[in-house]
Amino acid sequence: MSVATTETPIASSVQAFLASPRKMLINGQWVEACTGRTFPTFNPATGDVLTHVPDGQHADIDRAVKAAREAFERGPWRTMTPSDRGKLIWKLADLIEAHTEEFAQLESLDNGKPVTVARVADVPLAVDLFRYMAGWATKIEGNTIPLSVPYTPGATYHAYTLREPVGVVGQIIPWNFPLLMAAWKLGPALATGCTVVLKPAEQTPLSALRLGELLCEADFPPGVVNIVTGFGETAGAALAAHPDVEKVAFTGSTEVGKLIVQAAAGNLKKVSLELGGKSPSIVLPDADLETSIPGVSNAIFFNHGQCCCAGSRLYVEKSLFDKVVSGVAEQAKKIKVGAGMDPTTEMGPLVSEEQHQRVLGYIESGFQEGAKAVVGGHRRGEKGYFVEPTVLIDTTSTMKVVQEEIFGPVVCAEPFTDLEEVIPKANDSIYGLAASIWTKDFSKAHRLAAQLRAGTVWINCHNIFDAALPFGGYKQSGWGREMGHDVLELYTEVKAVCAKL
Ligand code: NAP
Ligand code: MG
Repeated sequence: MSVATTETPIASSVQAFLASPRKMLINGQWVEACTGRTFPTFNPATGDVLTHVPDGQHADIDRAVKAAREAFERGPWRTMTPSDRGKLIWKLADLIEAHTEEFAQLESLDNGKPVTVARVADVPLAVDLFRYMAGWATKIEGNTIPLSVPYTPGATYHAYTLREPVGVVGQIIPWNFPLLMAAWKLGPALATGCTVVLKPAEQTPLSALRLGELLCEADFPPGVVNIVTGFGETAGAALAAHPDVEKVAFTGSTEVGKLIVQAAAGNLKKVSLELGGKSPSIVLPDADLETSIPGVSNAIFFNHGQCCCAGSRLYVEKSLFDKVVSGVAEQAKKIKVGAGMDPTTEMGPLVSEEQHQRVLGYIESGFQEGAKAVVGGHRRGEKGYFVEPTVLIDTTSTMKVVQEEIFGPVVCAEPFTDLEEVIPKANDSIYGLAASIWTKDFSKAHRLAAQLRAGTVWINCHNIFDAALPFGGYKQSGWGREMGHDVLELYTEVKAVCAKL
């Protein structure tokens, strides 16, 4: 089977961006790595090199942290009013919006995702996140607190809290939503007045670097945001361990999340983690199948299953099981797989050769343990990292494909009899990131929502994100919540001030 090839013409601004090796952003300057070394970033639809980026190392992280420290302690950022900070963030949002097509194409070329999806999801969500966070800059408040100090009878005190920026923040992001993950991280850090060293994923550094150009254009003071490209084991590890970084925010695998926690222990930096998932979609007997079948299909196949909250376990009440599984298989067959830059493509390639091997390896392990594919189960085409949308049945809860995060377009479908059976099944995971419930009975849905151990529960929808809605995981899916006002806690310290009057 072949894959689609007719492509959107690459915008001239994107061509110009890719025409020369990129540099990274430290202290408002575009610089090479100290070693002068670079590494290539690839188009996963073809395996071709797009351009080269600096191979940042420990010494580069040092430079960037120094710049962030200087900007935090002494720069104009420190004395800027919250309103001016908010305006800068809003200006950045406007600039991103004005370059939507360019960002959509960079995401598609670097990550593989359909350009049509990046245009309506990745880029507008990033714009909206920055605007939402721009509004918070003026609303980071403390409290006044009445005291009763029992051992100083008669004394009066004036006590209040200040919410202050946590300081220099290291942010390490993955490749599945490169621009959006940068926005989730930078938005709250900037709103609260922190300074940042951001390390994008090695597979998808380009949109972060373009974002760096817009940060300069918006006039953020030098050193407020530094962007160091490089590998996780070198640049990422140096950032997580750096003694002058007060907080590290990480999104990626649970395995690396544990390394981040260890690295952070050296100076006990604050840690927030947004990690893996194995999220259940639960179809109850009274579900509206017209909307539930496309809904649970999209829950797994959106972004090629490369979503931490992908609905990768599908539990269907047994009377509907065959109908739902064949419906999802039909949806899977209809998905047009091809290069992300083809405007008719609905599913692009996986991000890299490594992920391609990993996902195919999982499918194979499912077959070896007795699972069957109703649809898919193989790679697609000979070139690029395409995998067929895959629906597995005859899976059991102990199989690797049911327990581990595949991070590809692969769903395991199992029937259930009643809620007593499905609740423990849905919760039988080291993860607890998200879940979705499909039913017309809202009373039942809300009761079930309370029993699921997950940071997000969607009802009759899945993969719905909003800058105002907190997102994060129970159990090994992470620490802390991103977005909404909850995220502000991750980037602030509370100072209690107590004065005797
Ligand atoms: P990963 O290794 O966890 O990568 C995430 C980020 O962490 C990248 O920027 C990576 O840098 C960096 N990193 C890697 N090792 C590090 C270390 N020792 N110290 C500090 N930073 C480090 O994820 P991956 O290898 O790209 O993907 C593997 C699996 O992770 C996927 O199959 C999926 O299951 C899961 N994943 C989850 C999410 C999510 O949103 N929860 C996102 C991506 C992947 P480099 O890119 O340079 O290695
Ligand atoms: Mg790439």
